[in-house]
Amino acid sequence: MKKLALHWKIIIGMVLGIIFGFIMNGIDGGKGFVSDWIAPFGTIFINLLKLIAVPLILASLIKGISDLKDISKIKSMGLRTIGIYVFTTLVAIVIGLTIVNVVQPGEGMPQDTIEKIKAKYENDAGVADKLAKATAQKDAGPLQALVDIFPSNIFQSFAEASMLQVIFFAMFVGICLLLIPEKKAKPLIKFFDSLNEVVMKMVDLIMLFAPYAVFALLANVIIAFDDIEILIKLLYYSICVVGGLILMICFYLLLVSVYAKKSPLWFLKQISPAQLLAFSTSSSAATLPVTMERVEEHIGVDKEVSGFVLPVGATVNMDGTSLYQGIAAVFIMQVIWPEGLTFSNQLVIVATALLASIGSAAVPSAGMVMLVIVLESIGFPAELLPIGLALIFAVDRPLDMCRTVVNVTGDATVSVLVAKSLDKLHEPRVKNWDDNYKK
Ligand code: ASP
Repeated sequence: MKKLALHWKIIIGMVLGIIFGFIMNGIDGGKGFVSDWIAPFGTIFINLLKLIAVPLILASLIKGISDLKDISKIKSMGLRTIGIYVFTTLVAIVIGLTIVNVVQPGEGMPQDTIEKIKAKYENDAGVADKLAKATAQKDAGPLQALVDIFPSNIFQSFAEASMLQVIFFAMFVGICLLLIPEKKAKPLIKFFDSLNEVVMKMVDLIMLFAPYAVFALLANVIIAFDDIEILIKLLYYSICVVGGLILMICFYLLLVSVYAKKSPLWFLKQISPAQLLAFSTSSSAATLPVTMERVEEHIGVDKEVSGFVLPVGATVNMDGTSLYQGIAAVFIMQVIWPEGLTFSNQLVIVATALLASIGSAAVPSAGMVMLVIVLESIGFPAELLPIGLALIFAVDRPLDMCRTVVNVTGDATVSVLVAKSLDKLHEPRVKNWDDNYKK
């Protein structure tokens, strides 16, 4: 009998996790049971994915660059990648701003709803935490983000999983391997090639655990929802964000079919396990190993391209996040600061949401931290900030899950486009044991 494909198993795990979470929410002591006995399995899974992220970036990037044979190719790949990333992010922000201005989800929100949300979340530790993180980020100088790319101690970068620093180091090693005599470079290239194979196999093995892990992750998300009434009040706003994200996915599919001449449904099917994990973990960084595996082995993007485009994209390309930031910023203004809703402020939002999505870490909730910076850039009154965040806090997690799916799909799409433009898109070679297929 043909085994159930991985993405179906993951979907079943997700649905059962949601149902289980709701049941436990209604049972006395159920929440405690989920957080003590179920959630840790989700954490173990995320830890395993993070564990292999650094070796994977290192091995695939060093191998990819040393395969290029020619340094000028790195420049052309780099410029194309960054150019397409900026383009898709701008499209995302424009889609977000258009939707929120047309639909106006914040118009006419009843005062008592605002008061209720304010009372519940204004002094919430989660809101305070986002504000504190945003202040720390803002206090750093304007070039701090650039300085942060260059590590002084690579082991510290590994330990902290600082993605851009690891990417810089790997590229540096890869370029130097191209510059030294081939005979001397060979042993190291072989080593990283072999490391890359091992890590890819680790992805396969870890993914066998995915259906159970997403069960745990989603059950844990569900038990955190407590005020359904507030969630419903924010439904209008949430629908705007999700609608925009769906449009963004359609845009990617259009790019894949028109430019790369691949069937959109086929692309979605190949990338779906990564999307489902992005949804369950809310972290593009944790999803990265799976995104790489899917894109290389199931879509056929050459390692040279995916090894560079995907790790860079996980950190700097967050179309879902920027779309969300545009909608959230304008929604908050519609509700509590309508006088700020000028055209010039919306132009500033386009620029800052672009930068903020580049600067957002690929971890849960990072988009909300950077939203504070977007709001501050348009002179949003500081005393209203906690209320603004409180307004959207209740639905941040589900929206984070959805925008992370778009972030990951965007990275995968751009890797396909760059690969196509460099003639590095091949027939996929699915390896034995992937998806639990037995040959
Ligand atoms: N969770 C998102 C990601 O990792 C970032 C965000 O929008 O909060 O891609």
